[in-house]
Amino acid sequence: MEREQIEMDVVFVGAGPANLSGALHLSRLVRQHNEAVAEGRSQGRPLGEIEIGVIEKGASVGAHILSGAVMDPRALSELMPDFIEQGAPLESPVNEDEFLYLTKTRAIKSPITPPPLKNHGYFVVSLNRLTAWLGEKCEESGVNIFPEFPGAEMLYDERDCVIGVRTGDKGIDREGKRRANFEPGVDLLAKVTVLGEGPRGSLVKQLSQRLNLNEGREPQVYSLGLKELWELPDDRYPAGRVSHTLGYPSDAKTYGGGWIYGMQNRILNIGYVIGLDYRDPLLDPHAEFQRFKQHPFVARLLEGGKMIRYGAKAIAAGGFYAMPQLYSDGVLLVGDCAGFLNSQRLKGIHTAIKSGMLAAETIFEALLAGDFSARQLRRYEQLVEESWIMPELRRVRNFHAGFKRGRWLGLANAGLQFVTRGRHWGLFDRSGAEPGHLALKKLADYGYHGDDIKQRYGDLRFDGKLTFNKVTDVYHAAVAHDEDQPAHLHVLDTNICATRCAEEFGNPCQRFCPAAVYEMVDDGADGKRRLQINFSNCVHCKTCDIMDPYQIINWVTPEGGGGPGYKNM
Ligand SMILES: Cc1cc2nc3c(=O)[nH]c(=O)nc-3n(C[C@H](O)[C@H](O)[C@H](O)COP(=O)(O)OP(=O)(O)OC[C@H]3O[C@@H](n4cnc5c(N)ncnc54)[C@H](O)[C@@H]3O)c2cc1C
Repeated sequence: MEREQIEMDVVFVGAGPANLSGALHLSRLVRQHNEAVAEGRSQGRPLGEIEIGVIEKGASVGAHILSGAVMDPRALSELMPDFIEQGAPLESPVNEDEFLYLTKTRAIKSPITPPPLKNHGYFVVSLNRLTAWLGEKCEESGVNIFPEFPGAEMLYDERDCVIGVRTGDKGIDREGKRRANFEPGVDLLAKVTVLGEGPRGSLVKQLSQRLNLNEGREPQVYSLGLKELWELPDDRYPAGRVSHTLGYPSDAKTYGGGWIYGMQNRILNIGYVIGLDYRDPLLDPHAEFQRFKQHPFVARLLEGGKMIRYGAKAIAAGGFYAMPQLYSDGVLLVGDCAGFLNSQRLKGIHTAIKSGMLAAETIFEALLAGDFSARQLRRYEQLVEESWIMPELRRVRNFHAGFKRGRWLGLANAGLQFVTRGRHWGLFDRSGAEPGHLALKKLADYGYHGDDIKQRYGDLRFDGKLTFNKVTDVYHAAVAHDEDQPAHLHVLDTNICATRCAEEFGNPCQRFCPAAVYEMVDDGADGKRRLQINFSNCVHCKTCDIMDPYQIINWVTPEGGGGPGYKNM
């Protein structure tokens, strides 16, 4: 097939905060350098016009961005010291913090907010709005942004150097045949390709396998965050108030907690995070979130309100020990897909922005040197090491590991870490860390038998006021995919589903997916069942790729523009 080739200097894959900050910073560094040379303030050679492109799989910049979010402004103020004057869309400064422990019926307020959850000086933001705004700043600075362009494949030369990215084809029908509107993907060739795909990037997965970027590192572990926005009838929860909860509905062996943030215009932002290393094969994160809302403390806050938006997304929580090699020939990794999130603070926006900026500085030096090899690009790792990112991540390096032994030991470990600046004193040895899906127990091993599958959430009712089923929630994520295309969720062996997986785990994909994508349906009269993939519901959270116990689900990018249409999230 003939494919158009477009030559750029630098291609950023994914228009998240990491890459947009990187693209913006790079465009400025180049411009400032060229001006300094032209005015005789610098002796170097001018770089001329450097073509910088950002591709994004969503229909617009920000459409696939979902976050809490309380933002630590440290990195944004380095990128743009006058971000407030420049009109960054901030909901409110944080002016009230609280931390609550939930039993089934009570909410016990902690007399002190644990230091990692203190947010004074930070801002409540809608990251999807902030990202769209950063996108505009990039365009004003001459960066080319291409929404609806999913990066589908990495491009390599004969020595395995990355030479760019191939975008996805358009106009392939569900049988895999070309439709009248068929358009082949484009080969975007670049001196450096920067991957900023967010958690569990599909290209990062390909690249890491091919170039062994995870060798000697621990496997990445993830959480899943589920979120709704509510319109409240009054000012009962002001903008800038921030609550974090621990406890109900998660049991002490499951890593989980809730957040409630006040936004402008009486919008309440509420969400729940569950570690994707839970053991209970019948656990359903979406159902847990609904139960969280039924807690009397939360239900009272939502009473009389209206749910207006929903979304879900994975969070890369492994941190310091799970960071892959951050560079190779012609390629750099930034943001969540490189493991920069601080899971103790549930904050990754500031580290994403900073990593993008450091990638830009690395590329700028590489452009001056005319060298894009791994030898030159390893400078990025050095810059990261010398920046404030690494001390921050190193201090919490054993945070997540503590929770492998349950909530109370996890908390004790978190407290200890605070004092010891990250050392674990042998109590929470990380050796033998494993990917989260391996923690999932088989039904029988967890003690489930017979009708337990029906009873696990038998008492949970979706009343359409406080609690919603997945399909209703998905409607509020404004998800759209052209249905006449091949499913982008590749199940590599569907025979396992109706046999081994049904017996061993009770088909957990039906539960861990927060968007009702996976459904076991009757297949004809002989009582057989088969997996039906409702891919058009997919919110691109990547949970299935992460949590499938047999690791036979491969999430790939669908046709450009498909997916959620997040607004104000
Ligand atoms: C529920 C939740 C709550 C959170 N709360 C907070 C918080 O309160 N404070 C905080 O600081 N952080 C929080 N975070 C983390 C924060 O959102 C991330 O650390 C941050 O967004 C990472 O930025 P990024 O640019 O690396 O990736 P992302 O923000 O994930 O952006 C990646 C972009 O790349 C696009 N993309 C991916 N693959 C491709 C491809 N192959 N081709 C084209 N485009 C692609 C995606 O569509 C997306 O637009 C939270 C995260 C979640 C999920």
